[in-house]
Amino acid sequence: MRKVNKFLPVLKPAISEEAIEEVENVLRSGWLATGPVTRQFEERLCEYFGGRTAMCFSSATAGLQAALMAIGVGEGDEVITTSMTFAATANVIALLGAKPVFVDIDRTTFNIDPQRILDACTSRTKAIMPVHYAGLSVDLDPIYEIAQRRNLRVIEDAAHAMGSGYKGKRIGTFGDIQVFSFHPIKNMTSGEGGCVVSNSPDVQRFLSLQRFHGIDRSIWDRFSSNATGYYDVVYPGSKSNMSDLQSALGMQQLKEVERLNAQRRGLVDRYQFAFEDMEDQISWQGIPSYDFVHSGHLFPICIADASRRDDFMQFLKENSIGSVPYYMPVHLFTYYRNTFGYGEGDLEHTEYVGKRIVCIPLYPSLENYEQDYIIDIVKKFFS
Ligand SMILES: *Cc1c(COP(=O)(O)O)cnc(C)c1O
Repeated sequence: MRKVNKFLPVLKPAISEEAIEEVENVLRSGWLATGPVTRQFEERLCEYFGGRTAMCFSSATAGLQAALMAIGVGEGDEVITTSMTFAATANVIALLGAKPVFVDIDRTTFNIDPQRILDACTSRTKAIMPVHYAGLSVDLDPIYEIAQRRNLRVIEDAAHAMGSGYKGKRIGTFGDIQVFSFHPIKNMTSGEGGCVVSNSPDVQRFLSLQRFHGIDRSIWDRFSSNATGYYDVVYPGSKSNMSDLQSALGMQQLKEVERLNAQRRGLVDRYQFAFEDMEDQISWQGIPSYDFVHSGHLFPICIADASRRDDFMQFLKENSIGSVPYYMPVHLFTYYRNTFGYGEGDLEHTEYVGKRIVCIPLYPSLENYEQDYIIDIVKKFFS
């Protein structure tokens, strides 16, 4: 076995020479802020999402918050979501004065269980915010069915789902609103950033005001030679636009993301094959009954004996392997306990998985011999 002599992180961006060149071109162009490159990036994203409009933001978090505002979520409203997610999903709901109502996950897929959503609906429910956890698409049909029946909006937290698919369709090409993240550890990156995909002119109009000071013309129009420089403010918007510097990186990554995802899926297959005979000790996301494409964003494993998780992560660390407990259930964080009264015992399956989950290294540049080393160390711990 070839020797591994560097630390293997859990996640790592894959930046090509072409991407570096594209960023360099923008640096030399004299225009770094939002401008023609961002516009072009949004056109490419629009093509990628089957003609639906994609609007870039400084982060997925900013995009999620703007999307919630766009559909009118505010004080006293409720939004149904999952607790098996990054804190941002619930934070943006709470930040608007609304209540995140956490629905338990399916023990097999670790995704929100659509069968439990209807029971969580009240007269205050405004929206459902499912998360395509680790890149495995949520069972969307029953969710959109409930949304239609109860007149709710759906905002898919698609931070992990760039390149994911559901029943033959790419996530982002159908449905209500999807929010993707281009954070450096996600499947593609713009340094920091994200985009909101929708088909609604009302949502798009609001998003364009919210992300740039409530000004109703793009900054490029204001500064390009044929513009007057006058502008008007029609809403007290925020500042969460994406720069051309970021868009240049994002645009090149978009060209590469399908290939990078294929590499990720290849690594996932190798892990699953290697751990096949260890089902008494570890398990992972199960195969749902519907047709799907997994983006391979994370490779989360569930340690059967929860009491050994800390030792397992420590053992990996001692052997120069990174790991993270993604995710610690959001409803058990201090703010959510204190503000909404959530606590231990509220979500059986989320808490079961939350106590056992560990993500181990998965990124396109992880070499086979490095992965073999990780597999070896994992097996050593459990033997
Ligand atoms: C990363 C992440 C976000 C936030 O993305 P940013 O671009 O970092 O704001 C939101 N939801 C989930 C599930 C994430 O993993």
